[in-house]
Amino acid sequence: MKLRIRGLTFFSLILLFLLEACATVPYTERSQFIMISKSEEVALGERAFEEVKESSTLSGDDKLNAMIKRVGRRIAAASGLEGYEWEFILIDDNQVNAFALPGGKVAFYTGILPFCVNEAGIAVVMGHEVAHVIARHGAERMSQGRALAIGKAILSVALSTSAPVTKEVVTGAYGIGAKVGVILPFSRSHESEADEIGLRLMARAGYDPEAGVAFWKRMAKESEGKKRVPELLSTHPGDNDRIELLNRLTASATIEYRRALTEHPEYNRRPEKIVLPLKRPGKNKR
Ligand SMILES: [Zn+2]
Repeated sequence: MKLRIRGLTFFSLILLFLLEACATVPYTERSQFIMISKSEEVALGERAFEEVKESSTLSGDDKLNAMIKRVGRRIAAASGLEGYEWEFILIDDNQVNAFALPGGKVAFYTGILPFCVNEAGIAVVMGHEVAHVIARHGAERMSQGRALAIGKAILSVALSTSAPVTKEVVTGAYGIGAKVGVILPFSRSHESEADEIGLRLMARAGYDPEAGVAFWKRMAKESEGKKRVPELLSTHPGDNDRIELLNRLTASATIEYRRALTEHPEYNRRPEKIVLPLKRPGKNKR
């Protein structure tokens, strides 16, 4: 009897917790499981971003910094969402990469700029990174991690009376399943979701969405038959699926782009080209 009551309490607690943990992704309306508060998320992102800034060299190029900040602000504003502490930085490093942290922190590496070619190319990457933030992908992944840990703990209590061998086999299999079955596919779906939202954000911010396919084609070409794969591609598969998805979405994004140009006459100018300073040899070696 005692066990049954405990079971019921436990069940209602889980139910309460699941109801609390439901959120919806803006733009795609996908339901997601998040058990981290927005303020906790912002605080975690902020702390991690401080560490990034302390351990890296920020670019001293005023023009490039201004461009990154301008694109970032325009895209964040186009999301129409509030409650984020946006910050956009440019790190002086040859890595072909960019990343976002929960709460609104975005970093570009100078190494990715030649692939962006111009401001519209920066908007492709910026749109994708800002999309990760507003879709709260970081918080979702952290929640999965926590839920998996809780699931594992419950399983291990449930199995505590079983023979040690059975326990090991079951929890071991659970670990594998958790990694391959849950975490990887989710991260791939996060990538396509960020592409989809990112393309719409860049269009709304007045950047031609045609630049999206062009950018990912340049990235794919760079990794073709080369030893060096751009770092961005290690977390962002640059396969044909991605280019296909963007091709499919470009037409509707172009409509949003034209509308943005009419609503914001100041957006009607050619995207500024990226001019990189000549590097002294030996600097920024990889
Ligand atoms: Zn991504």
